[in-house]
Amino acid sequence: MGNKNKNKGKRFNHNNTHKGRNQNHGKGWNRVVEEAFPAYDDGHRLDRQNESTKTMAHRSNADNGAIPKGSGHGVRSYENQRQVNEYCQKQAKVSSTPSGSRSGNAKAEGGPKLDRNHFGDKERNNKGDREKAPHKSKCLECNVMPTSYCTKCLQWVCDDCARTDHYYSGCNLTSKAEAINQMKKDSVQKACLRRDTMERLLTELGAYDMQLDAFRLTMQTAFECTRKEKGRVDAMLHNGQARKRSINEALQSLENSVNFPESQSGLQELEQFVNEGKRWASSSNILDLKTFSHTTKHILLSSAHMMKMANSEDKTPGMILVSQTVHDKTLLSRMNVEGGRILVYSLAEMDTVPQGTIALPFTSIKSCIDKASALGFLEISCRGKFLGRVLIRMLGDTLRGRQFLMMCTGEAGPSFCNTHFHRVWSKSRPGESIWGGDYEKGDGSGGSTVLKVSNNEKSVPASKHMAVKAGLVSGSYENENPRTIFRVYTKDDVKPQRKSHSSYNSMYNAHSFSKEENIAKDTSAFGMVENGLDVFETALICDNITEVVIHACGVVIEAQ
Ligand SMILES: [Zn+2]
Ligand SMILES: [Zn+2]
Repeated sequence: MGNKNKNKGKRFNHNNTHKGRNQNHGKGWNRVVEEAFPAYDDGHRLDRQNESTKTMAHRSNADNGAIPKGSGHGVRSYENQRQVNEYCQKQAKVSSTPSGSRSGNAKAEGGPKLDRNHFGDKERNNKGDREKAPHKSKCLECNVMPTSYCTKCLQWVCDDCARTDHYYSGCNLTSKAEAINQMKKDSVQKACLRRDTMERLLTELGAYDMQLDAFRLTMQTAFECTRKEKGRVDAMLHNGQARKRSINEALQSLENSVNFPESQSGLQELEQFVNEGKRWASSSNILDLKTFSHTTKHILLSSAHMMKMANSEDKTPGMILVSQTVHDKTLLSRMNVEGGRILVYSLAEMDTVPQGTIALPFTSIKSCIDKASALGFLEISCRGKFLGRVLIRMLGDTLRGRQFLMMCTGEAGPSFCNTHFHRVWSKSRPGESIWGGDYEKGDGSGGSTVLKVSNNEKSVPASKHMAVKAGLVSGSYENENPRTIFRVYTKDDVKPQRKSHSSYNSMYNAHSFSKEENIAKDTSAFGMVENGLDVFETALICDNITEVVIHACGVVIEAQ
């Protein structure tokens, strides 16, 4: 039986590629199948054949370049015709000759693709025919019923292939029944594990679903409560303004009173208004603003995350766009969720607004940002090549810092987006710095201020007095209306005795340096590069610094 199979297998292969040498030339394909599946009657065999042509024949032919001969079975003939066609196409590809048909030629047979899958002449001569596995262990693909399974090679093999191909040390043959049983056991175990994991996930998802419901309902309640509270506060604001006006008017009339009765009634009136003002003040409770800012930020972060996750499964993804009206124009900006934070890109005019967009007023973004420690970002490229993203942290609340953030968000109209750097100072020397931020002229002569300092903001310092250090970001030097120009130091500007300020924290205390003569200071500092200083180092390699462009900018909303 073994030898018979072997010959048959050989014939099967050689039928196609070495057919001239085939001694059993007259044996048909159906005969091969009969021998391959001796236990099956004709009907079964046809089924089996159908099944195998569906699942395996295609791969088998692709691998072996086999052309099974036609047979009496209709389905099989059809398949075989297809296989012949495939083979012809393949031959044509391999040999690039139009004669790549069943008759074949030496060139095509010797092609590298065929050699890999067939017993090449060379190998055959060296080792002899008898030692060859008839199906090269592709017994299933060759429609030969396997008898055992090699657990090392993970192959179903017939007796002959088992004997010739799997008698090496390391190969481990098990009987068909044993192998199937083992496979069943493994599959069952795998399925049970998967099912258990899914069960755990289902429990988690169920809890998440309930949490989402709770969140949504709480948010609805919060919405109602906020609306009510806003009604109270609006009324109080209105009331307070009126009371203030009354006191002013009473003061005026008292001042204008010329006789005793006028003065007396004026005094009474004023006292009445003062008392009313006192009552008003005592009822003007407000909740902690910081808590609100924190809550708003977390709700925004959660919302952006939920939107991102929901979008991944949705054919019509929604989008949250930040909107702000500047000079009667609606500016929009996109938000990107990245890890535990949101990048809010600069506002700009947008031609088309995608469907399903939710517009979030920019004030919501602003309420999440603590000016004193806000994080701005610049995305930098050179000649169209993305160099990286630079994160710049504000060093406390300063007017120059506020302006820098306004230029990152574009909330006042202009932004740093699509502006370029214009100058490098002290190149390759201590205190080296790169200048940018001129949104008007691009050469450092423009960059009119976008700040509108109200009376309440007069107490905010213009900038910080800081020792120069790589990463320090400072503004232009004007005392009044500082321009949007900024510079980033890329090298320290300190002389040898640096030990006295080794602590990073001391950087924030300008006084600790005042005694030191050797340290250069910048009086208009406002920020520090937190990440991406190397981007500037790469940018500085660019011959022409004006080719280094801020192609995107914005602010980061962080979880903490
Ligand atoms: Zn075999
Ligand atoms: Zn093996």
